[in-house]
Amino acid sequence: MQDAFCRIDGQNWSADRFAALPVSQLEAMRRQLACISCGRDAWFRKESKHGHPAHFCAHHEDSCQLRAIYTVTTDPRDAVTEEAEEISAGGGILVDLDDEKGGEITVNPVAPPPSNTGTGGRTHVLPGDRQSSETYTLKRVLHRLVTSQAFRESSRIITFFRDGEVFISGPIKEVFIPFERAHEAPEHARYFFWGNIASYGVTQDGKLWLNSSENHNESVSVAIFDDILQAFIAFFEIHDLEELVGAHVLVSGHCQTSKRTKKSTIWCGAIRNIILRRYNERIKKG
Ligand SMILES: [Zn+2]
Repeated sequence: MQDAFCRIDGQNWSADRFAALPVSQLEAMRRQLACISCGRDAWFRKESKHGHPAHFCAHHEDSCQLRAIYTVTTDPRDAVTEEAEEISAGGGILVDLDDEKGGEITVNPVAPPPSNTGTGGRTHVLPGDRQSSETYTLKRVLHRLVTSQAFRESSRIITFFRDGEVFISGPIKEVFIPFERAHEAPEHARYFFWGNIASYGVTQDGKLWLNSSENHNESVSVAIFDDILQAFIAFFEIHDLEELVGAHVLVSGHCQTSKRTKKSTIWCGAIRNIILRRYNERIKKG
């Protein structure tokens, strides 16, 4: 779309005018964009190297007149069939993070990981009957989170294994925390966080920062450690970091929230703990 509303100055911006902003102003304002019609968070894409002009995008309300159709870009991880994924009753869901490629690349997080995961009121059950359980990949989990409200609100038990042990286990509705609620997460418990990337940056120390939109002062930044950045870029076949704007991300890592600002930082030191879902805008015909 060619126009978006910026919550900082309360104005509508055309993509051309927005693209001409000084870098620091543009980077601040691109995290505060919304669809001028439905008000959902929007993001700004710079002119691409392939000549696609600067424009805005959003995951619109279904009823939004500016609603665009997106196609998911091919990611190197397993393809997900979009159909045939309704939640079946019955057993739990198992995800083995050791099966996620790139699993050997791990660096130490800034804070020691919690020694047990008994906080946060979740139940931690070892699924007794693996046969009644379904196996998901991380990519499939993110796909379900993005596309299905029923999945997000499900009480079905999902269990993540890492290094052969239970890493996280609990009801789906408690294990996954959307970025908007990351500031409420107890600091020393393990969760998966997920949401939309509105901007990015690379700091002098070589870390990549994936930033959410800022809404009601709450925001999330995912820090990708410098040790794994090159592997991250290679693994997700990222040609230009600008491609990450608008993507959904699902990540597990130590989450710290500033009590003063409600800004959360999620530290990601292992590629097997993160997955991306990127989008291409398909021009709606007719
Ligand atoms: Zn909209």
